[in-house]
Amino acid sequence: MDILIIFLVVIFVLLIRQNKRTTKDNKSEKESKSKSTQEKQSKAASKTIYQKIGEYGELKVNEKLNLLVDDEGLHRYISDLTFIDSDGNSHQIDHIAIRENGIFCIETKNYGGWIFGNEYQKKWTQTFPNRRRFYFLNPLKQNQSHVNYLSKALDDKYKINSIIVFVQNNIDKSRVKNCPNVINLKDLNNYLEIYNDGSTQYSLEDINEIYDLLFDIQSEITDEEHIENVQKIRMLIEEGKCPRCGGEIVERIAKRGPNAGQKFYGCSNFPKCWYKKNIK
Ligand SMILES: [Zn+2]
Repeated sequence: MDILIIFLVVIFVLLIRQNKRTTKDNKSEKESKSKSTQEKQSKAASKTIYQKIGEYGELKVNEKLNLLVDDEGLHRYISDLTFIDSDGNSHQIDHIAIRENGIFCIETKNYGGWIFGNEYQKKWTQTFPNRRRFYFLNPLKQNQSHVNYLSKALDDKYKINSIIVFVQNNIDKSRVKNCPNVINLKDLNNYLEIYNDGSTQYSLEDINEIYDLLFDIQSEITDEEHIENVQKIRMLIEEGKCPRCGGEIVERIAKRGPNAGQKFYGCSNFPKCWYKKNIK
């Protein structure tokens, strides 16, 4: 009889414990869930701010690069080139400038404070007067992966130069040492104009080819995305819109080259955009 009572008591206690544990688990699950939602929300919010800051920086670089554009076509640029590599990773290149004296893959940084770093360090440091400091990935290493991809995509036919532009003009050569291609926005155009590697001299045909090839890279996405893209482009052209920039497609006359004097369809944003509609 006693044994039976003890047995029942033990079972009772075990049941209570089990019950407690489940409620606890539920509670902590709920807590962790709400925590992760919070984390997600705050991450999303900070990402938006971060993206906005980044976009502002990219606009500043666009403004600068626009100043070099002329209708000779010997300086062109493409902004926001996104692509997916053979491993399925997506990349975004802020700007690519294509010029007579070279191809430049430009990474934009809109960071304030003092910047410290060198080419070998994994992380660079950003410090503020209140002694707060932040670390970020060495932008040279970050951009090198873009450069490598571009080289590969262009069959290693062309040399791609890397440039890191700090839009807040806060790069001081005493803090960022031995990195000639890490520059301030105010020096970007001068850097591009006087750049000379002693051998690169592209013709207008080369520049045309590179420009078109770079647009094609963007289509190297999944088959489905590609089909969707092709359809979107077709629809835009039918609507009279430029598929590259959304400008109007207008009738233009070729000024030079073998087709000089002939009519063709091009973009109203020429010479910033060099889209040409193939007439077949
Ligand atoms: Zn266009």
